[in-house]
This record gives sequence, C-alpha cells and structure tokens, in this order.
Amino acid sequence: MSIVVPCYNEEDVLRGSARVLVDTLSKMVSKELVSEDSEILFVDDGSTDSTWRLVQELAVSHECINGLKLSRNFGHQAALLAGLMSVERGISISLDADLQDDPCVIEQMVKAFYEGCDIVYGVRESREVDSFGKRVTARLYYKFLRAMGVEIIEDHADFRLMSAKALRELSRFTEVNLFLRGIVPMIGLPSRVVKYSRKERLAGETKYSLSKMFALALDGVAAFSSVPLRVIAWLGAGISIASIFFALWAVGVKLFGDGVVPGWASTVVPIYFIGGVQLLSLGIIGAYLSRMYGETKSRPRYIVDHMIKSGRNNRTPEGGRY
Ligand code: UDP
Ligand code: MG
Repeated sequence: MSIVVPCYNEEDVLRGSARVLVDTLSKMVSKELVSEDSEILFVDDGSTDSTWRLVQELAVSHECINGLKLSRNFGHQAALLAGLMSVERGISISLDADLQDDPCVIEQMVKAFYEGCDIVYGVRESREVDSFGKRVTARLYYKFLRAMGVEIIEDHADFRLMSAKALRELSRFTEVNLFLRGIVPMIGLPSRVVKYSRKERLAGETKYSLSKMFALALDGVAAFSSVPLRVIAWLGAGISIASIFFALWAVGVKLFGDGVVPGWASTVVPIYFIGGVQLLSLGIIGAYLSRMYGETKSRPRYIVDHMIKSGRNNRTPEGGRY
C-alpha cells in the first residue's frame, strides 16, 4: 500500500501527520492487512517553507517514508497525480497532509478492497468543522454539477483508495485540466463509499486560496459538461424567436394602434439585456476555449525534481522524468 500525501507549505503539520500515518500503517502491517514494504509518500508541491527538508529527515528516520519533490507549485490535483503515478505496485490511498481526512478509515477502505472493490471513496458524513460559507457553497456547487450532468460523488474530496488496476486506467486520462473527482468515477470498476467525519486541520491554515478553489470549481464544470454551451444555444434561439413576435407586435401597433408607443423602454431594455447575454455567452465559450488551448499544448502536468524512494535518495535525471 502507498499512502500518497500532497503537501504545500505544511511544515506545521508534517511531523504530526507523519507520526499518525506511521502508526496507522504499522498497525495494519501487524494485522497483516498490508505488506511490510508499504510506504507513505509525501509529495512536496513546490513548498517555499521547510516542508521538503522535513520530508528528507522523516525519510531518514522512518524506512516506510518516501518523498517526491515537484519542481514548483503545480497545485493539489497535479501533486496528487504525481504521487499516484509514481506508485509502482499495489494499492494507493490519497489523503490531505492536514489529516482532516480520518486515517482510521483507511483500514475499512482496505477491507473493502479485499472484498473486491477497485475504488473506495471516502465521503464526509458531517461538515461541522467547515465554515458556514464553505458548507453552503459546497452544497450548491455539488447540486450545480449534478444539474450539469457531471457524475460526482457528493461530499467526496480526494480521500480515496485505488487499486493498481484503477491507477493503470487513471494513467490513460491525459487531460491537463485536472479534476480527479470527476475523472475517477468515469473509470467505473466496482466501487464503494466509506463514511467518515471530517476533522479540524491539525495546524496551520488552508493552502487552498479562494482563487485556487475557484479554478478547481470551474474545471469541474467546463472539463466535464457541455451543458452551458447548449444553454447558450437555447437561450439564443429563445431570444431570436421572441424578437420575431416583438417585431410583429410593433408593426401591429404602428398599423392599427392609435398613436406611436413612446419607445424608450422597449428599445433600451432589450439592448442591455441582449448585450449582457452576449457577453456572458462569450465568457462561457471563452472558458471552454481556454481549456482546449491548454489541452492542445499538452504541457506536462507536473515535473519531478527529486525523489526519495526506499532508502534511495535521487535527484531525477533530465527534467525529472522517471
Ligand atoms: N495542496 C497542495 N498544493 C496546493 C494547495 C494545497 O498540494 O497548491 C495540498 C495541501 O498541502 C493539503 C491538501 O492539498 O495536503 C488540501 O489542502 P488544504 O487542507 O489547505 O485545503 P482545505 O482542506 O482547506 O480545502
Ligand atoms: Mg485541509
């Protein structure tokens, strides 16, 4: 088993998390649930603090701890993918460095794997520790994604188990705009949900800035649903048809009405309205276009700079390819 943990400026929590995870792992090894050469893989997502130094120290003092250092900050999803793609065999568990995802649930996940599941989703049972704003926006966002026809598991973040088979299939999804929560359910394969209650962050502050969260939310919609594009088309058609009736009405008033209608409102309101609709539509098309632009360039999704694996401490050769 490989426990993959993306870390970005997590010097405050890393030691504590490592202790808990090593404990969890050794308990599972002693119960013979997982093999002795299981690992905990910390992926340093271009931290600017002492995170990587800590990972190096931990790797020296604990045989089961390994590390992967990306060349710069690529974002949570890319860091997670980098970790998952470096898992050579066996199953992977992904979770956050702040241990808001409960490590006690890992055992349940592994049992579900032995019962034949290739993917086990950790789903938050309660969100009490999240702020009111985050709770409400998350709920609305999941509802919105559903309405857009995106298949996601509600209240599941990136705490999940994936078998070697599921990881192999994941590696075939080459998209640059990463939204793993949307991709993983597309793999299919037998899966199960395991509930847990989300805890407080061990220490430190959230590493998900508002802009990072917004970018992820946009990826979730634009990378998985073309419904907004269809809505634009329908809206355009609707307004065009309505305007034909409007023109007929205007001609009717001119021919049969008594006196000309004072036309200010009927001229200005549609100008503003249609102008707004057009700008919004262009914006939506732009969101898709920019993603296509990103996909066609197909730049590497992450670059590995350094790798510590089972005692070996290597700087990666040529541009970090392994
Ligand atoms: N993270 C990362 N790269 C980033 C931002 C975050 O690897 O650019 C990691 C972070 O270290 C943590 C996980 O993603 O392990 C989730 O971040 P955080 O706990 O700050 O998000 P929140 O729980 O507040 O949504
Ligand atoms: Mg967190």
